[in-house]
This record gives sequence, structure tokens and C-alpha cells, in this order.
Amino acid sequence: MLIKQLRLSGFKSFVEPSTLRIEPGLTGVVGPNGCGKSNLLEAIRWVMGENSPKSMRSGGMEDVIFAGTASRPPRDFAEVVLSAEDGDGDELEVVRRIERGAGSAYRVNGKDVRAKDVALTFADAATGAHSPALVSQGKIAQVIAAKPVERRMMLEEAAGIAGLHVRRRDAESKLRSTEKNLERLEDLMAGLD
Ligand code: ATP
Repeated sequence: MLIKQLRLSGFKSFVEPSTLRIEPGLTGVVGPNGCGKSNLLEAIRWVMGENSPKSMRSGGMEDVIFAGTASRPPRDFAEVVLSAEDGDGDELEVVRRIERGAGSAYRVNGKDVRAKDVALTFADAATGAHSPALVSQGKIAQVIAAKPVERRMMLEEAAGIAGLHVRRRDAESKLRSTEKNLERLEDLMAGLD
């Protein structure tokens, strides 16, 4: 998957709608301390479905909404739009929006979808909020110190099979509830004999 553009509005320090075009080749983000470089990486993770406030460096999910400054009032919502090209060369547009008191909503190519669908879309393309391709500060040290099982998870994500694990867990849980229903049915039928 090729990420081509990021549009942020009301997300953390990006109060005004801002567009970041990612051209082919290497993209560098430079700027003074505190100007919002890490916020950009967090915006990518967030639109991909990240739901851990810790990895957003915030206390709660609504903390990603612009909190206001001495001269600007806070915003009521934050929105990030990620435009990409998938492995088949098709355009992909993913939108995540959070409103105070109303939680997050996602859209993929204009259609309302669940968080789970967004996570699977990215997992199938061997990327996602926890992709090792998104290297934040301190991440290298974390990879070096990772346990073998954690390293295997990173490799599985890079190979694009993480989505299969999620589907397998879903299928197993459906199987378990079907087995329970069957047992109940057998009990009921035994009662009818
Ligand atoms: P460094 O080079 O020091 O790592 P950086 O360029 O990566 O800095 P960030 O950490 O991305 O900068 O940005 C931090 C800035 O974002 C701070 O000024 C902080 O006040 C601001 N910020 C974070 N969350 C919000 C929010 N919800 N509302 C307004 N501003 C926010």
C-alpha cells in the first residue's frame, strides 16, 4: 500500500485543515521541537484504527481533538483522511472522525464501516496502526528488546497475515456459539421425546 496524502482537521495541534502530500521517494518531516512531527505519525496510526490512548500519548481518545490555546477555542471534532493506493493500484480513502461525546466513525471510499473493517483492510495490505513500518521515537530500542513471540508478531504483520489471525478468532468464536446452540437444541429435542 502506498500512502499518498494525509488531511488533518482539528487533530491535536493541526487545528486548521492541513494537507500533507506524500510524494514517491523518501519524505522527511523536519521542524522545531513540539511543532507536531510525531502528531503526524499518530494521525496515520489513528486513522488506521488505533484505540490505545497510550500510543496516542493521551489520557482518553477525545484528547486527540484540538484542545484550544490561550487565543483559540477548542474544537468539537477531529478528522483524519488518508488517501492511498492499494496493492492492485486502486484508490483507497479512509476517514476517521471523532466528535466530543459521540465517539469515532469510519468511512472507507465513502461508505460507513466498522473499526474492525478498517483494521482488516490495512492488515490485509500488510500495514496498520501497529505496523513496524511506522517507526516512532523509542521504537528501535523496543524492537531490539522484544521477546521472540513479539518479534514473530511483527514479522506476521509485515507478511500481511495478521488479518488472517483476526478472521480465525472470529470464526472460532462463531463455531463455539454454534456448538452451544446445537447442544441446547439436542437438550430441547430430548425433552420432546
Ligand atoms: P519533538 O521534536 O519534541 O519530538 P514534535 O515535533 O514531534 O516534537 P509533537 O509531539 O508532534 O511535536 O507535538 C506536540 C505539540 O502538539 C505540543 O505543542 C502539544 O501542545 C500539541 N498538542 C498535542 N495534543 C494537542 C491537542 N489535543 N490540542 C492542541 N495541541 C495539542
